[in-house]
Amino acid sequence: MKAATITPGDPDSARVAERAAPVAGNGELLVDGLLCGVCGTDVEITRGYGRAPQGADELVLFHESLGRVREAPEGSGFTAGDLVAGVVRRPDPVPCPACAHGQWDFCHNGRYAERGIKDLDGYGSTTWTIEPGFAIKLDPELGELGVLTEPTSVVAKAWEQADVVAGRAYTRPHTALITGAGPIGLLAALLGRQRGMDVHVLDKVTTGRKPELVRSLGATYHTELDQLGVAPDVVIECTGVAEVVFDALRRTGRNAVTVLTGISGGKHTLQLPAGAINDELVLENEALVGSVNAALHNYRQAGQALARADREWLRGLITRREPLSNWTATLQQESDDIKVVVELQDAANDG
Ligand code: BGC
Repeated sequence: MKAATITPGDPDSARVAERAAPVAGNGELLVDGLLCGVCGTDVEITRGYGRAPQGADELVLFHESLGRVREAPEGSGFTAGDLVAGVVRRPDPVPCPACAHGQWDFCHNGRYAERGIKDLDGYGSTTWTIEPGFAIKLDPELGELGVLTEPTSVVAKAWEQADVVAGRAYTRPHTALITGAGPIGLLAALLGRQRGMDVHVLDKVTTGRKPELVRSLGATYHTELDQLGVAPDVVIECTGVAEVVFDALRRTGRNAVTVLTGISGGKHTLQLPAGAINDELVLENEALVGSVNAALHNYRQAGQALARADREWLRGLITRREPLSNWTATLQQESDDIKVVVELQDAANDG
C-alpha cells in the first residue's frame, strides 16, 4: 500500500512511501482510506511537533480521516461498506483517571498517543486498520463530507466546554463570537447556528468564500472587532493569534466563557494590560478555557451535526483536493484554502 510519510521535523523527508499492506488483528476493522483532511498540526509536524512510532523514523501522517470498511469481524458493530472516521487519540497505558473514563482528551499525564501525530501511524494510507471502539460510523449520505468529522469533533468539544462553564450561571448563552473563519471557525459557527444562537464570525479576509459561507449560515461576518456591536456570552477562539485572543476577551459580557482552540506556536510576545484583564475576569465571572482534542461522544455529536447540516454548505468548505501522489503540495497553504483534502484511492488504483 501507499502512504504519506514524514520524519517529524524534516520537511524534506515528506514523501509517498510503499508500505506492507496492514493486517487487521485482534477484532480490528480493515478500512480502505478515502480522504484525509490537512490541518495546521500536519504543518507543525514538518517543523518538529509530534513523534514517529517507537523504533521508526517515519510517521504515516494525517489524523483527519474518512474510509470505507473493507472487512469487519462479526459482532464488531460494523459491516463491509460502512463509511467511517477514525478517532485520533488513544488513552495512556496507566491509565489516568480521565483516560480510564474514556476522556483521553483530558489525559492527565500526557502519555496518550495520537494517530498521525504522536507515536502512532495516521490515516494517510490507502488501507488502514482500526479498533472498532475508535471508529465512528457515519451517515452514508454524508459521503466524502465525512472527512470533516474530526475537526467537527474538536469544535463539538469546545462547545461542550462552553456549556459546562455557562451552566454555572443559570443562563443560556445567546450570542457567540467565533474568531477565525478557517475550517475550525466555520464549523464552530455551524454548531452555534444549530444551537439557535446569534453567531458573529471574525476574519481578516474580505474576498474568497469565507464571508459568504458565514452569511449563508445566518451568521454575521466581521473584519474588525470594533464593529462587533454585541457583547458575546461565548467566544470560540480559532485563530491562535495572541492579539485576537486578548482583543476578543475585552469584548465579552458578564459571565462569558472564552474557549481557546488555536495554537499560537513560536515565541511571539505581546504587551498586555494584565491587571485590567485580571480585574475584568474576576469582577465579571469570566472564564478562559483551553480545549484540545475530543472524546468519543464528541465525535458522535460531530457526525450528527454534519448529518443535519446543509450539504452544499459543507461542500463549500473543501476548497482543494490533491491526490496522494502529490500530497506534499498540501503543506503549502494557498490564499483561498479552507479545508484541503488528500484523495487516497487514485494512488491505490495506480498500483
Ligand atoms: C487535532 C487533535 C490533537 C491536537 C494536538 C489537533 O490538530 O485535531 O486531535 O489532539 O492536534 O496534537
